[in-house]
Amino acid sequence: MTGSFAVAGVTPRDVVTPATIDELAEIVRGLHADRKAFAFIGGGTELELGNAPRALDTVVRTSALDRVIEYAPEDQTITLEAGVTLAELDRVLGAHGQMLPIDVADRDQATVGGIIATGAYGRRRLRYGTVKDLIVGVGIVRPDGVRARGGGKVVKNVAGFDLPKLMVGALGTLGAIVTATLRVYPVPASVRAVVLHFDGAAGVASAVAVLVEQRFEPESVVVYNYGALVVTFAGTAGGVDAQIAAMLGAVAAASGCVNAAELSDLERESYEQRERAVRRDGDWRVRIVAPPAYPVTTLGSFAASPPLAVPVAYPLLGIALHAHAAADAPPERHLTDLRDNVSAQTRGTGAVIAHAIPAVARPHVDAWPKLPPAQFATMRAMKNNFDPHGLCNPGRFIGGL
Ligand SMILES: Cc1cc2nc3c(=O)[nH]c(=O)nc-3n(C[C@H](O)[C@H](O)[C@H](O)COP(=O)(O)OP(=O)(O)OC[C@H]3O[C@@H](n4cnc5c(N)ncnc54)[C@H](O)[C@@H]3O)c2cc1C
Repeated sequence: MTGSFAVAGVTPRDVVTPATIDELAEIVRGLHADRKAFAFIGGGTELELGNAPRALDTVVRTSALDRVIEYAPEDQTITLEAGVTLAELDRVLGAHGQMLPIDVADRDQATVGGIIATGAYGRRRLRYGTVKDLIVGVGIVRPDGVRARGGGKVVKNVAGFDLPKLMVGALGTLGAIVTATLRVYPVPASVRAVVLHFDGAAGVASAVAVLVEQRFEPESVVVYNYGALVVTFAGTAGGVDAQIAAMLGAVAAASGCVNAAELSDLERESYEQRERAVRRDGDWRVRIVAPPAYPVTTLGSFAASPPLAVPVAYPLLGIALHAHAAADAPPERHLTDLRDNVSAQTRGTGAVIAHAIPAVARPHVDAWPKLPPAQFATMRAMKNNFDPHGLCNPGRFIGGL
């Protein structure tokens, strides 16, 4: 990672890269004693997510914490330091025919600590879940510099306060993730994908309904640009064969299906490129989430500005991703209009999270949806418990936590 280490547009005074976990804990103890504000950075591929921190004196990088601590292929678990990149993890697991089924694309940069802190997931969430479903144990450095551990080394002996799951998606606001134990999976023998083109979103919705009714078990279901449905199956060669044949028979008959074809690896790659683009490009990047009953694919986007990447949706997960250029209209209007639109179409059950916000709009908008007061009160109590002086990534998270 090069550049300014700016977190949601805020540039730190100092950047430090501890070589060991003890050194990181020592640094945090010093920052805490001096009441200085700090944040942790892994690969820096998701630093725009969330609100701008209220203060940021020091960025603590985890990139030098890059050891594989323990790997038990027979237990399908691996324990690593938080700075290990996903590319390195792929290499270690690949040698034993195993994988971590999290689709983060920028694997040379993104780190284990980063995928946990952001609660990362992609299209294969449908089959394997998010990091929350894969984390077994975690080691942290609290905002006061004290080390703590939660969870176990193997899947079956996890007991006590679920610290691992608490750290997932907390955006580094409760302390530094320094080690993690993750559950891994065998690489499937066969992975094949089919694309079905429809003449509109209604056709896509009816095809998705058939997939659910007929209990197909795809590894992932993705809609590109409202009209192209890509269904991927993984497993034994025979099993994948049978599912594809049956699915083509059932779904290709759905109304509005223009054509259906199996994708070559190269074609599959080109569709995955579009997923990367919607997570990387654009001044505005948003994630719309809604109960799968609602056609998230069509839940609209920023009407006021042109899309900069093909919209992507995971209809069975109730998630859609949009990327847009900053438009001329008053910056804050976009997000507010989109939120109103999503709320109206989902009877208030949908939400919009901003993964990137143009600098001009940041002072006027909140990256996070509002939470029900009781839920927020619990989160605030947790934050105050871990970080009573509000030094760790202050103001970055939901409700200004
Ligand atoms: C091309 C592209 C494709 C992407 N695809 C996906 C995708 O499919 N799915 C997805 O979910 N995301 C995706 N992302 C976003 C991003 O890659 C992931 O969120 C990734 O998990 C971030 O890891 P990182 O190490 O780069 O974290 P960073 O960007 O360094 O940090 C992200 C946040 O986590 C916190 N953090 C990082 N490390 C730690 C730590 N050790 N302890 C405590 N807090 C920490 C930071 O404070 C920061 O708030 C993509 C990004 C790009 C650029």
